[in-house]
Amino acid sequence: MSHVSFYRKWRPQSFEELIGQERVTRTLQNAIRTGRVVHAYLFAGHRGTGKTTTARILAKALNCAQGPTPTPDNTCPNCQAIAGGHSLDVIEIDAASNRGIEEIRELRDRIRLAPTEGRKKIYIIDEAHMLTTEAANALLKTLEEPPEHAVLVLVTTEPHRLPPTILSRCQRFDFRRVSQREIIARLRHIAETEGFAIEDAALTLIATAADGSVRDAESILDQLGAFAEGPISAQDVQAVLGILAEEVSLRLAASVLARDAPAALELVGQVINEGKDVRQVMRTLLDHFRDLLVLRPGGAGEVIDTTERRLQALREQAQTTTVEEILRALNVLSAADAEARWSPQPRLALEIALIRLCRPEMDPTLEGLRTRISALEQRLGTAAAAAPPAPTSRESAPAKPSPKGPLNATTPAVVAVVAPPPGLEHEAPLAASTVVIEDVRRSWARILEEVKRTKMFCHALLIEGVPLGIEGDYLVVGLRAGYNFHLDHLHRPENRSVVEGAIARVLRQHLRLRCTILDGEAEPQAAGPAVTAQTDPVVAKAMQLFGGEVVEIKDA
Ligand SMILES: [Zn+2]
Repeated sequence: MSHVSFYRKWRPQSFEELIGQERVTRTLQNAIRTGRVVHAYLFAGHRGTGKTTTARILAKALNCAQGPTPTPDNTCPNCQAIAGGHSLDVIEIDAASNRGIEEIRELRDRIRLAPTEGRKKIYIIDEAHMLTTEAANALLKTLEEPPEHAVLVLVTTEPHRLPPTILSRCQRFDFRRVSQREIIARLRHIAETEGFAIEDAALTLIATAADGSVRDAESILDQLGAFAEGPISAQDVQAVLGILAEEVSLRLAASVLARDAPAALELVGQVINEGKDVRQVMRTLLDHFRDLLVLRPGGAGEVIDTTERRLQALREQAQTTTVEEILRALNVLSAADAEARWSPQPRLALEIALIRLCRPEMDPTLEGLRTRISALEQRLGTAAAAAPPAPTSRESAPAKPSPKGPLNATTPAVVAVVAPPPGLEHEAPLAASTVVIEDVRRSWARILEEVKRTKMFCHALLIEGVPLGIEGDYLVVGLRAGYNFHLDHLHRPENRSVVEGAIARVLRQHLRLRCTILDGEAEPQAAGPAVTAQTDPVVAKAMQLFGGEVVEIKDA
C-alpha cells in the first residue's frame, strides 16, 4: 500500500474542519444559506492556509445533491466526484503551467455550456497571479459577463500582482496565517490518530518552521513519522528541517549546472513563499558549492561531515561540473550574499546571481568572459594553447577580428562577417511609417547592447526574448513559456523605460514594449538569413564578445 501524504489524507472535507479561517467560512456559509453566492471570488493569502481546499468545499456546497447547503453531505455522487477530483463541473486550472494558458483560452467558450451533473460549473484558478496578459484578458471577458451557472474562484498568494480590472470584479477573501496554537493542536490530533508520540518542544518547533502554513506543518510531521523511532523529539525535527534545506540546495545547484534559469527562479520563489530566509538559502547554497569543490578533485570525501545519502548525491553532482564552474559559482554567490546584507531586496540579489550563473554569456566579470571564450573555442575547435586576452570593453577588442585557426566540421556552412557597430549619431532618423519588424530584428543585437550599457539586469531579461512584431505603437517581444519572471520584470516601469530608451536611440523611433509568453515548447521562428545568422550560437557569441552586426552572409 502506498503512503498517502498527511496533507492529502487529512485535507478538510467540510467548512467545519478548516482551521484558522473562521471569518471566511462563516461568510461563505451565510452566502450559501441565503442564496447570495457571487460569480467570482478571490481567495488570497499565505500558502498552505486552505484556499484551494475551501474552493473545493464551496464547490461541494453548491453541487451537493442535498444542496445548495452550507453543510454538504460528502456522500452523494456529486460530493464524492468533487472530493476525488473527477467532477465534470469542477475544473481546476493551474495558471502557472503551459496547459493552464490553453485552458484559460478554452474557458471562455466552455464556461457557456451548462453543468453536466450539478447546478453550477465551478472554475478554480490556482496561482492566478501567474496568468499571462493574454490569458488575463480572456478571463476578464468572462468575468464581465459570467453565465448564470458559473462560479469562478481565483486563488493566489500574491493578489497585488493581479490586474485591478480583475480584482475589482471579484469578492475577495483574505486567508490569514494559521496561529501556532491552532497548528500545534492540529498536529497533536493527527499524531494521536496516526499512533505516534511527539514531544511538546517538537510540536512548537514544527509550528515555528511552518510559519502559518498548515500544509508545511503537516508535511514536516509526515516526514518525521517515517524518520523517527520512539517519541519524536525537538532534535528529530531539527534533523528533518536540515535535510529539507540541503535538498533545496541540491536542486538549486542542479538547475544552475543545467543552466536552467526558469527552474532555479521557480525554486527560489517556492522556498521564499514557504517563508525561508533568502540569506539562509544563499548560505546553504554556498556551503553546497564548497562541498562540491572538496569532492571535485576526487577522493577527499571524508572531509565532509554529512549523511551517506547526501554525500552520494554530492559526488554525482560533482561529476557533472568543473572546478572553474564551481569557483565561479562561489564568487558570484559570495558577492550576492555580501550585497544582500545591505540590500532592501535580498531576493533580487539571489535571483540575479542565479541568472548570471545560468547564463555566463551575459556575465561581464572575468570569470564570465573566460567561460564565454572557452565555449567559443570549443565551438570553433581551436586549441586553447594560451587563453586569449579577455576584452573588458568593446574599445579594447580588435576592430575586425578574423577567424583564427582551422574551422572544423562542426562549423556551420555560414560565414558571418562581423563589423564594429557604426556610430549611432551617423544613423539617419527613421520615419514612423517605415519601421517594420525587420528593422527591429536587424538591429536587435544593437538594441540588446544598448540595454546592456544602461542596465545589466534588463539585458539579462531581454536577451531571452525575440522581437515578434509591431502592433501600433508597440513592439511585441516573445518569451518562452516559463519565463514569467522575465515578463513581470520587463513590464515594470523602471525596466520598460530602459528598453524603450534603447530602442529609441538605436532605431530613432519611439516604440513601447509589450512582452508575451510564446505557446508551447517550439523555439520562436526567426525570419530572414541575417536573423538566422544572428541566432547561430557561434555568431551570437562573436557579436556578444566583439559587438557588431551581420553585414554579409556567404555560403562556405
Ligand atoms: Zn453531497
